[in-house]
Amino acid sequence: MSDLLSTRSFPRAIVHFDGDSFFASVEQIMNHELRGKPVITGGERGAATSLSYEAKRMGAHRGMTMREIKKICPDAIIVASDYLSYSIYARRMYTIVRSFTPDVEEYSIDECFADITGLRQKYRMSYARITQMIQEKLHADLGITFSAGLGPNKSLAKIASKHRKPAGFTSIPAKEAHLFLKDLPISNIWGMGGSTSLYLEKLGVRTALEFAQKDEYWLATNKISKPYRDIWLEMRGSFVKKLNTETDDSIGSIMKTQTFTPPSSDRAYVLSQLARNIEGACAKARRHQVRARSASFYLKTQDFTYGGLSIELSVPLADPREFQRLVEIEFDRVFEPGTLYRATGFTLRSITAEYAATNDLFGDIERAQTKERILETVDGLNHKFGNGTVHFASSFTARKEGEERAKERARKARPKIGLSVEKKRKSLNIPYLGIVR
Ligand SMILES: [Mg+2]
Repeated sequence: MSDLLSTRSFPRAIVHFDGDSFFASVEQIMNHELRGKPVITGGERGAATSLSYEAKRMGAHRGMTMREIKKICPDAIIVASDYLSYSIYARRMYTIVRSFTPDVEEYSIDECFADITGLRQKYRMSYARITQMIQEKLHADLGITFSAGLGPNKSLAKIASKHRKPAGFTSIPAKEAHLFLKDLPISNIWGMGGSTSLYLEKLGVRTALEFAQKDEYWLATNKISKPYRDIWLEMRGSFVKKLNTETDDSIGSIMKTQTFTPPSSDRAYVLSQLARNIEGACAKARRHQVRARSASFYLKTQDFTYGGLSIELSVPLADPREFQRLVEIEFDRVFEPGTLYRATGFTLRSITAEYAATNDLFGDIERAQTKERILETVDGLNHKFGNGTVHFASSFTARKEGEERAKERARKARPKIGLSVEKKRKSLNIPYLGIVR
């Protein structure tokens, strides 16, 4: 096909990516034991929100109750939704697509649109190849497959991505649109509301193609309003619906809290409890490969009064030592000597996907990343031998306490069970001594 012809096919080249079984796929990526198995999310609602292809193959579908699913798919693994993780993967998807073009619309947690018009010169390949290149990159980097669609506008790109699932790619040039619209029920067009499709059906318009073939005069006579006129124009190949490229950078937050009994007024002890939360929150952030630009901590007193402060960073981090240092600076503004405290909490906020932090504007980043390599080793050991194997000296007191309490509980519990089986976690208890301040 000559370049001129394909230019005419795509005066604007809009792509749509749609994550396949997105939530269930994220669960399978995070937990390798779930791979290849029928996984269903939405356990906390009692109805399926997402199903792995293994589950779909057995006939389960979205909206089914867990009881119905168990009947047709007894091996189904039902998990509770983990929206923090899903939105982290969504952010990563947007960031990957944005590395090809800045014009990306974050349409939903598992879908985005991108305008790739004009990129053929840069990549020296067709729009179809560019779309597939991005699709492959998404799969390679996230481990999740995406269905991709290419069209002259958002509406046709969305129809295209739905055409072949999972992991499919479909291109709909304007001049071939009729092939895809002839069997598409009017109610299945993106943006077509229920009452409008009923109205159109009453007028004898049953398919997207029948709608596209109407003329201006027909639209005016039948008082078709602007949003549906826009859809009509897009079905005919025009570019009308603009991409909303605003970004919402917030993923949410990661919070760790710890209540302790009896309450304590010991500064070192309370600080150590807080340190443990800082380590926990940062470890979770690193597991998800995200960093936080701000954080906050609180102390809860015996009479349930909260006191806390926020911390802002110049660069996003997931390094507990840095947060520990900053918390220690502010700690005494919150901690009141002589007061009994019963809980501490630490929250990482303004979380960004790691990809976002590659720009080297600040010399700080490199320094922070060198430090993080040590953390990778720590994470590796904890993964291998159990959480808390290697921890920071700052949380040592809190951990020691916890362990003694666990032993105490085990001692008390033993006579009741009548067995001396003690499930002891392999704990090497290696304090990481590099950070004591
Ligand atoms: Mg999807």
